[in-house]
Amino acid sequence: MFTCSVLRCTNPGVAFTAGSQNLVAGYHEAYVCAQHKALIEAGAPWDMEGRSVLMGRDLAPILNSWSARPSAGSEGFTLTLEIAGQIKPVEVFLMPEEAKTLSSFIDAANNDGG
Ligand SMILES: [Zn+2]
Repeated sequence: MFTCSVLRCTNPGVAFTAGSQNLVAGYHEAYVCAQHKALIEAGAPWDMEGRSVLMGRDLAPILNSWSARPSAGSEGFTLTLEIAGQIKPVEVFLMPEEAKTLSSFIDAANNDGG
């Protein structure tokens, strides 16, 4: 008897679920309980860390909205992130190199299934 792979869940696993994202190497398949399988199938976000499944409060908080403001000084821009469960937005200054890295993730998301 194997338990559910979701972190701290002690229910017995009933079925495998597989992630459809291949941007990261390693495990994309997890054995989960009926409740977590239903949540995943209903579209709840999840991720994997090693062989554990992260959901809910173990997952990074969801981004509600964001905006970008170009810089008048140095090359780069200020990124404002409004995060679920946080009253104050987070602001970060992105240097061109970091912006390029972020853009490669966005490109991958744009090409997903398209
Ligand atoms: Zn579970």
